[in-house]
Amino acid sequence: MAKTLPELPSSLQQVAVFPEDSRYAEVRSNDYKVGQPKVVILAETERQVIDTINYTAKVRESEGEKFPLSIRSGGHGLSATSVNDSGVILDLSRLNQIEIVDEEQGLVKIQAGAIWGEVAKELTPHHLVISSGDHGDTGVGGLAVSGGMGIILRSFGLTIDKVLGATIITADGKKHWVDNEHEPELFWGIRGGGGQFGVVIDFLFQADKLPSDSEGFAVPIIVQNIRYSVTDLPAFLQEWHQWFDQATSRLSSILLLNRGAEGAIVIQGKNFWYGVESSEAKAVLTKASELAPVIEEHSTPMDYSDFVKPENAPLEGKNTAYGKNTLVKELPLDIVEKIEQLLDYPFVYGVELRSLGGAANEQVSDFNAWPTREAEILIAYWVNNQHADESNEFFQPILDYGQGIYGSYSSDKSMEETNRVWPPDVAEKLRALNQKYDPHNVFTQNRKV
Ligand SMILES: Cc1cc2nc3c(=O)[nH]c(=O)nc-3n(C[C@H](O)[C@H](O)[C@H](O)COP(=O)(O)OP(=O)(O)OC[C@H]3O[C@@H](n4cnc5c(N)ncnc54)[C@H](O)[C@@H]3O)c2cc1C
Repeated sequence: MAKTLPELPSSLQQVAVFPEDSRYAEVRSNDYKVGQPKVVILAETERQVIDTINYTAKVRESEGEKFPLSIRSGGHGLSATSVNDSGVILDLSRLNQIEIVDEEQGLVKIQAGAIWGEVAKELTPHHLVISSGDHGDTGVGGLAVSGGMGIILRSFGLTIDKVLGATIITADGKKHWVDNEHEPELFWGIRGGGGQFGVVIDFLFQADKLPSDSEGFAVPIIVQNIRYSVTDLPAFLQEWHQWFDQATSRLSSILLLNRGAEGAIVIQGKNFWYGVESSEAKAVLTKASELAPVIEEHSTPMDYSDFVKPENAPLEGKNTAYGKNTLVKELPLDIVEKIEQLLDYPFVYGVELRSLGGAANEQVSDFNAWPTREAEILIAYWVNNQHADESNEFFQPILDYGQGIYGSYSSDKSMEETNRVWPPDVAEKLRALNQKYDPHNVFTQNRKV
């Protein structure tokens, strides 16, 4: 197979893995898909990233779409676009340095191939935190160009809101440092626009610097696990919404709904309080126990990094979950009824609700390419991927009600879905950036306007 490709530049030959290589099985996949690429480049240097882009652009002049370029940082993108079946995978996992540039100011430079669990492990002893997702193995690259809804999102905002600058290699192989002073439009676009303009090598983040007197924990959180048995879902969700909305933004909450025995709905709640144990924390978390009959409850104080521990699990394409989501301000009765109906289908793994608001809604709407700053709740559903089409039909009324979607939390790669991520005015700005930075459409494997 390798013989059908033009020869790689010498800089890539040592870091290329072809199908006949014994390491191929370990590097061909992401979490959702087993890839069949013609070559995987395990880039160790910026030069190798540039050479991979230039090489791909050249091959695409004759091969076109038959030779796609996928960018893989942590390999946990739900759309599985970080691997492909006939082109090149540019793997960035070896570009994984985490550097505290200025501890007092909270300035941290992180390469795209690092994973968030490692970032938390590195930053926590310094009382620094960047809010990322709930899973330690997700990659910095994918999350920091697309969104980042973390477990303490209401305290610290979206991950993309904390990016101060980035190094990006665009389709012409050129390196750009982008921030508010340098190519600010491109800087705007890579914070929410995903990987459609180029490959980000590293990000400069504004981490939050926390006080150092926090009773043993450097980045203290209290994690409350609480399981309810609910018979009146509309009443429960209304109270849950009011409860987190009226608490301070120290509180974030995630619910997973499933149909339990005898028709009741079992709800697994995870509530996250940023801070040490206090009477305020106790009052808020006790109130959570009063929202519905509780099957089980326990709260554990810990460091943020304990929750998002890296597993460094191999990427084998075995995750069978298919998910879609929408962002809403409220939960009217007809929408809750639709959620309840979804739970009746045997292929549904669960419906997830996440509290939004707080710091995530404090930025102005064009601060970056994340347009939905008014939503208060994310509704996501998870099904077995064999049943994606049927479940989409059932989710449609909920989608139609929502104000938009979180693109990186959706497995649906269709253009219709992409149009829900960015409203027309935002899409138009992204399209102009595409025309400027990727006129020959090298980066086709990402959600693209
Ligand atoms: C188990 C699990 C839990 C999750 N939990 C959360 C959560 O709590 N909150 C949340 O917000 N999301 C969550 N997600 C979604 C996930 O964080 C995003 O899909 C994210 O984009 C994954 O990043 P990655 O680098 O691991 O992905 P990859 O699969 O490596 O990349 C995904 C896409 O991002 C783009 N990309 C990646 N790296 C770069 C780069 N360096 N430059 C330019 N573009 C790039 C490419 O288009 C690529 O196809 C979760 C996903 C999983 C599987």
